[in-house]
Amino acid sequence: MIQCSNPHAQYAAHKAEIDEAVLGVMARGRYILGPEVEAFEKEFAAYIGVKHAIGVGSGTDALNVALRACKIGPGDEVITVSHTAVATVSAIEMAGAAPVLVDIDPARYTIDTARIEAAITPRTKAIIPVHIYGQPADLTPILAIAKKHGLKVIEDCAQCAGAMYKGRRAGSYGDISCFSFYPTKNLGAIGDGGMVLSNNDELAARAGLVRQYGWARRYISDIPGVNTRLDEMQAAILRVKLRYLDADNAVRSKLAAAYGAGLAGAPGLTLPVTDEGHVYHLYVARHPNRDRLAEHLKSKGIGSMIHYPVPVHLQPAYSKRLASGKLGETERAAREVISLPMYPELSESELKQVVSALLEFKP
Ligand SMILES: *Cc1c(COP(=O)(O)O)cnc(C)c1O
Repeated sequence: MIQCSNPHAQYAAHKAEIDEAVLGVMARGRYILGPEVEAFEKEFAAYIGVKHAIGVGSGTDALNVALRACKIGPGDEVITVSHTAVATVSAIEMAGAAPVLVDIDPARYTIDTARIEAAITPRTKAIIPVHIYGQPADLTPILAIAKKHGLKVIEDCAQCAGAMYKGRRAGSYGDISCFSFYPTKNLGAIGDGGMVLSNNDELAARAGLVRQYGWARRYISDIPGVNTRLDEMQAAILRVKLRYLDADNAVRSKLAAAYGAGLAGAPGLTLPVTDEGHVYHLYVARHPNRDRLAEHLKSKGIGSMIHYPVPVHLQPAYSKRLASGKLGETERAAREVISLPMYPELSESELKQVVSALLEFKP
């Protein structure tokens, strides 16, 4: 069986270093917000090219902390997309704000920047562009709209660790940016983890307080906070994996190029549009007979996934409150997208099997 993603293969590839890092944490005896978290925050901030980093418990929590750091909460609206992990929308509601969902660009699956301004109201406080599948959203117009209307930009970088946009890392453009280290992400922990990054001293300081009960001093809460700390053990693992992130992303690009060459002209299949800087968290094609295609791949021992089968605004938890009739491209993507196997340890021969299976498919 060829899996769609395979975090265990990554552990196996770096087992000796990861085991040593974990044993080091256990031996040292500092288990929460210790030297590994501090070192990883510095290293990851330097890698993305941002001044401050605050390690948190997950990508969802990173978004919640970022919103609270921006003083966004009840009565406020936040613009984002419905074509995303539910986490993006869930975090907005965790902070007490109301999500406002905008349609996507059908070629790149990121927010359709031409539709943002129509969604702005006097209550709008921020835009959360989601850099989906490893491809940054078109940040230049987003930053211009935000500036014009006095809005914060919070980048959802959960799927784009290492991606570039116009010569700089995604995650270095917004007022604040949020990463997830869920095991399958390009930079994945062996458990949960997340990070908030900012160049703004004040926002970063507030995010640091929110992370742990609003404490600047132990047991004294200066502002209301939560508890969402990056684990010392995960930080140690992530420090090892960060050293391989660029090499791993380069392999993902090579695999994507091989898919592109192998699948050019495959009937019915639309391949992803590839801007420079894409890091292929996922390799997502679309096909009008997507469900039958997925069945066919499964019969050949090939795992595929759907990111995402039901847009957030059509899910039971949200459909009554977030109803929108204007998300046609989002709904079409949900019917047609298919994520093909993509992870750095995927071998070329496995990729060839996937390509052959796709070329054999008779819709
Ligand atoms: C994974 C993901 C998140 C949430 O990250 P967790 O660490 O799982 O909480 C948020 N946004 C997007 C786009 C994601 O893919």
